[in-house]
Amino acid sequence: MKKHNFNAGPSILSQYAIEETAKGVQNLNGSGLSVLEISHRSKDFSAIMDEATALLRELLDVPQDYSIAFIHGGASMQFCMIPYNFLNKKAAYLDTGAWSSKAIKEAKIFGEVDVVASSKEAVYNYIPKGWTIPADADYFHITTNNTIYGTEIKTDIDSPVPLIADTSSDILSRPMDVSKYGLIYGGAQKNIGPAGVGFAIIKNELLEKIVRPMPTMLSYKTYTENGSLYNTPSCVSIYSAMLNMRWLKNTGGVSAIYKKNIEKSELLYNEINRNKLFKTTVANEADRSIMNVTFVMNDEYKEKEADFMTYATSKGIIGIKGHRSVGGYRASIYNAMPIESIQVLVDAMKEYEAKL
Ligand SMILES: *Cc1c(COP(=O)(O)O)cnc(C)c1O
Repeated sequence: MKKHNFNAGPSILSQYAIEETAKGVQNLNGSGLSVLEISHRSKDFSAIMDEATALLRELLDVPQDYSIAFIHGGASMQFCMIPYNFLNKKAAYLDTGAWSSKAIKEAKIFGEVDVVASSKEAVYNYIPKGWTIPADADYFHITTNNTIYGTEIKTDIDSPVPLIADTSSDILSRPMDVSKYGLIYGGAQKNIGPAGVGFAIIKNELLEKIVRPMPTMLSYKTYTENGSLYNTPSCVSIYSAMLNMRWLKNTGGVSAIYKKNIEKSELLYNEINRNKLFKTTVANEADRSIMNVTFVMNDEYKEKEADFMTYATSKGIIGIKGHRSVGGYRASIYNAMPIESIQVLVDAMKEYEAKL
């Protein structure tokens, strides 16, 4: 049976990336060597790194005065790199979920942290509004898409201080005005490629502001000044990420995938609204994520929650169990997920409703 992969991360990748990675693992471009066993300083790997960097730049229309880096350690390591590099006195953070909280925890090690607003009291089921960014902060940090709670900041906000965004789970899902940000970063394993590598898109100006001495591997400059090749990078992860971005470019790039993502998320949200069994966990429509759709069963059907999961599994639907802090269901519908798979989920919801 065909499987429909709704996993939150690591998550669905394009068929192209998976098939071409498999070929490269066997024999990279007819070289007679596997991508697993070539030098990261070889011509073949340089070409991969160059193409990955160029694709990310092209897909997001990254201005020339920004550098692109691939960094091990995931988004979580950058939670500490950000304050280490950029927090000299005070930083401001918007707390929209568990990932924001983890970033805040790291920042507190390095200086004063001003949490401008939080939706923690409501299990993060909305994006706080009406806060102001302190003009004397070294930077302002946001999490654009809250993978666990299904909320998303879908516009590029104006900030009087450098704006830093964890975009792990919505990077490349919509066009962004990169020029409004000082740093855009995340782990690759939701929308770019497999696990094992993270990315950073950094305004060069910001790199000039680094004053604190720090360990080599935690300095952003180490990555930007050495083409992400100061030490051995995660070669295979970067190879797959490059292939997945090549696929994205060949399907029309970010503006084309954004249209599809809107269509995909509307199909599912409309069914959640229509179906008497289910309700969304995010009341404010403007805050609903187009990447992670979270929903629960209405109170009167609550005892059917596990049974619907079993029914969905019997239809090849994988990975829709909600995060333990929210419960219910979460359908992660990243770029590589075709609308046909969402239709399978919608059909399962309809059939299950009719059965009751
Ligand atoms: C998954 C996720 C992370 C954690 O990424 P790691 O690469 O595992 O460190 C951080 N932020 C967001 C928004 C995520 O979705």
